[in-house]
Amino acid sequence: MLIGAIEAGGTKFKCAVATSSGVILQDTTIKTTTVEETMEKVLKFFSSFPIKTLGIGCFGPICLDQTDERYGMILDTPKKIWANYNILKTLKDALKCPVKITTDVNASAFGEYYYGYKKKYQNLIYVTIGTGIGGGIVYNGNLLQGHHHPEIGHMILKRDKDDKYESTCPFHSDCFEGLASGISLDKRYNLSYEELSLREDLLRREANYIAQGIYNLYLTFAPDKIIIGGGVSHQEKLLPFIREEFRKLNNNYYTYKAVKSIEELIVSPVLKDNSALYGAIALGVMEK
Ligand code: ZN
Repeated sequence: MLIGAIEAGGTKFKCAVATSSGVILQDTTIKTTTVEETMEKVLKFFSSFPIKTLGIGCFGPICLDQTDERYGMILDTPKKIWANYNILKTLKDALKCPVKITTDVNASAFGEYYYGYKKKYQNLIYVTIGTGIGGGIVYNGNLLQGHHHPEIGHMILKRDKDDKYESTCPFHSDCFEGLASGISLDKRYNLSYEELSLREDLLRREANYIAQGIYNLYLTFAPDKIIIGGGVSHQEKLLPFIREEFRKLNNNYYTYKAVKSIEELIVSPVLKDNSALYGAIALGVMEK
């Protein structure tokens, strides 16, 4: 049985056809341009395969409330030409198979849960520190969400007293994304990736903000793994700094099992840059 999968991103769409055990048989990457042009190429790719179901991890925000008539629609995104476009409906109508959709970061969390760790941990969190910041929460083996998917990128953090730069979030002066996303780093510090890698003070501040965000999540959900992905996380020194800052924030508070081994708790993605694509395959498998 063949499963289709799409990781729909703002710069590219990764499409794959896989077996239900997660073996990718064919894949392609399509540049994200206009809605019509991009979707035509996506549909052309899938038209050659008799897929039984399709999973999508899509950039958000998306309406994921199945009782809402906008279910599957990309909502008010900064990528204006995609706003109010119902990607789920288009794919369902064209491919005539069951389609399951979630956010790209939810898909990453689910991919790590399902294929990365092969369901060994029922509770894990994936946080992406990329252009923006987002998080997907797998809780008791299911993706957690209320009337809307989580938006952990806008949780309020305690600002470093020496950080005088303005937040880049238009809504919040001290939120996770406004202080620590890739866009925030670019606009606030105006350094190249290489220049930033030499600024230990700024990397430590960045690590502290990330540690605050994931510490709040850790206290709320007690996950077995907190996976840090996204472009900013490729800064080599960052992960060790995040672990150090996390340990400082915990300050020997109630010694949870995981806090003893922060190296095993806070980790990089097992599936590297393909967590979301594998998550989309897993969604397709669950939908069959
Ligand atoms: Zn914000």
